[in-house]
Amino acid sequence: MSAGSGLTDPGLTRPANEDTFIVEPPLYAVADGMGGHRAGEIASRVAVNELLASAPRAADPKALARAVRAANRAVIESAQRSRSRAGMGTTLTAAIVDGTHVAVAHVGDSRAYLLHGGKLTRITEDHSMVADLVRQGTITEEDARFHPQRSVITRALGSDPEMAADTYELDAEPGDRLLLATDGLTGMLPDDYIADLLVDGRSPTESAARLIEAANRAGGYDNITVVVVDLDDVSAAAAAPQRGTNEARRRVAGRLLWVVAAVAFIAIALGGAYSYASARAYLIDEGGRVAVYRGIPGSFAGVSLHWRAQSTGVVTDELPVPLQARLRSGIVFDGLPAALQRASELQGETGPSTPASSTPVTTSTP
Ligand code: CA
Repeated sequence: MSAGSGLTDPGLTRPANEDTFIVEPPLYAVADGMGGHRAGEIASRVAVNELLASAPRAADPKALARAVRAANRAVIESAQRSRSRAGMGTTLTAAIVDGTHVAVAHVGDSRAYLLHGGKLTRITEDHSMVADLVRQGTITEEDARFHPQRSVITRALGSDPEMAADTYELDAEPGDRLLLATDGLTGMLPDDYIADLLVDGRSPTESAARLIEAANRAGGYDNITVVVVDLDDVSAAAAAPQRGTNEARRRVAGRLLWVVAAVAFIAIALGGAYSYASARAYLIDEGGRVAVYRGIPGSFAGVSLHWRAQSTGVVTDELPVPLQARLRSGIVFDGLPAALQRASELQGETGPSTPASSTPVTTSTP
């Protein structure tokens, strides 16, 4: 069985710890909550509780993604129950480990990494504004860690009922390590340094403690949560007989490279679509009311390229019929300001409205 350990620490500047983690083999997860009046704490706890209840036992990424969707619904429902929880949200990065076979489902800017042969590879892609800018080549990875908008995330649990998790599946090798971490770690330390602290053969608990200590030494500006899992070849019965031979190990390493290459290829193909989408915004009918989104409607290569910016109180049925028809498929604008401007014009045309709620969810930056 894989051996894992998790630790969380409030850091040095935050009054509360809004992070939560799970170490319940085969399930491991980290969640980074956000929202005022300690609602972030509630959001991350609601999410992990629902994940614990609905996660599969097998390393099945689709089933794990369904459990993350259930967690999203639970956070949305919890937010609707109390005014002080309005707008709360959370990241969620979850893994099911079956021997060296790992399924990951991910939303937000927490991360999953694999340490293999002393090299640390990022498995997940951040759903954040600065990650979009890095993908577009506008800023570097190092700039992103210090960017004033580094806390703006483009996908989280708690706002969009249609939210979907990114999923990954990989075959690692015995001796590899899985790391799950919130941005209180990865925002404070570069990946190379995290790798150095993970490779030295200490236990998962000792490594987790060293990572947290290092993040605090670097400033501890945020809550820090890490889960470290040592992967071994004690696995499902069907896979076990193959794992001892060198040939099987080579195959496993080959498959891992393939997964990494496929992720890189998809990232490059999506890069162009991303830069197109992120410069646009649109208005669309959503449950009878007009909502404002960044990005473009629909999806590209199965990936949705939009992030909800604001719901308005404008009732679609009160607008002229031709406009209603266009709103059903979405009216695209060159940039968010133009879309927001049109939304406020519509608001003026249809009279007073209910207050708007807005996302993407933002954590405060120190
Ligand atoms: Ca955080």
